[in-house]
Amino acid sequence: MRIALLAPVWFPVPPTGYGGIEWVVSLLADGLVDAGHEVTLFASGDSRTTAELACIYEIAPSADIGRSQVEIRHALACFERAGEFDVINDHSGPPAAVIAGAVSTPTVHTVHGPLLGEPGDLYEQVARVSPRTRLISISMNQRAPHPDLPWLANVPNALDFSVYPVQPRRGDYLLFLGRMNPEKGAHRAIAVATEAGLPLKIAGKRREPAEQQYFHEFVEPHLREGEIEYLGEVTHGEKVELLQNARATLFPVDWEEPFGLVMIESMACGTPVIATRRGSVPEVVEHGRTGLIVDDYRGMAGAIEAADELDPADLRRAAEERFARSRMVDDYVAAYERAIELAG
Ligand code: UDP
Repeated sequence: MRIALLAPVWFPVPPTGYGGIEWVVSLLADGLVDAGHEVTLFASGDSRTTAELACIYEIAPSADIGRSQVEIRHALACFERAGEFDVINDHSGPPAAVIAGAVSTPTVHTVHGPLLGEPGDLYEQVARVSPRTRLISISMNQRAPHPDLPWLANVPNALDFSVYPVQPRRGDYLLFLGRMNPEKGAHRAIAVATEAGLPLKIAGKRREPAEQQYFHEFVEPHLREGEIEYLGEVTHGEKVELLQNARATLFPVDWEEPFGLVMIESMACGTPVIATRRGSVPEVVEHGRTGLIVDDYRGMAGAIEAADELDPADLRRAAEERFARSRMVDDYVAAYERAIELAG
């Protein structure tokens, strides 16, 4: 198949620091090439891929994140070449899904964020303006506000397990890895660590003004050397070391988490996840095998001892069974074939 993959433009593919979607697109692009497909990846020029790279921006315009002009220019570069592809798989967000309405090449749009579930929701508009566009969810829960949209498949994310080595023994600190915002809940992780009397390492993105503000108000006042530490945004290597040596990864989300790559990264490294029952969590964590799910973050400290019992090798095995690259690539290929068939 001749496949166009449209990545978000804001960070390179794969990302050098923060970036969940970019990791998934990177894995998919290289996996599709390995499976023998002809793949063109539309991403920033500082991306690395075995697919053919097409770029408008030589360097990822991270400082302009969210600027429609940048996003649309990047998407147009893909859609104006639509005739060259059998299928276009867009991972870049709703604006591109609207533009897809102007081309006849079948377009499959992967929804990476949560659906708002309000009237006038962007994806409802996409369904209206771009009726041939089919959608892929990354968890079944993600569809809940709009089960009626043109869903084509549910394809959970995956990892390249070779770059997340498992470690047989765990350390003594709790870990929080993610963006600095109320939904992800670094402040709840602080409350849990304080209640448990355990050290907490916090790593994560704090670039945008809202993230800075949240950090300043809810995280910074609690930092104490050797107890509650903030390490900044971490690279892949740093993140793996942190995950491998943590006693447990806390995932105290309070939003409809669409997937949560951090959870499978932790399992891959042999570290259990203690998570709140929101969004995709029950689809990703196998309670009592790869982690513990609690109804309220206030129950997290009490779950740490049970998490200690979970075997790192078994955690890793469980994650590999469900979140391998090959499964994700096969699922996407099946979805593309179906989209082409539906387009008739
Ligand atoms: N991440 C990272 N360094 C950081 C913070 C996050 O590499 O300092 C990575 C994290 O490991 C994960 C991704 O960024 O791979 C975030 O994806 P996730 O799906 O967990 O959350 P999102 O932010 O997309 O909601």
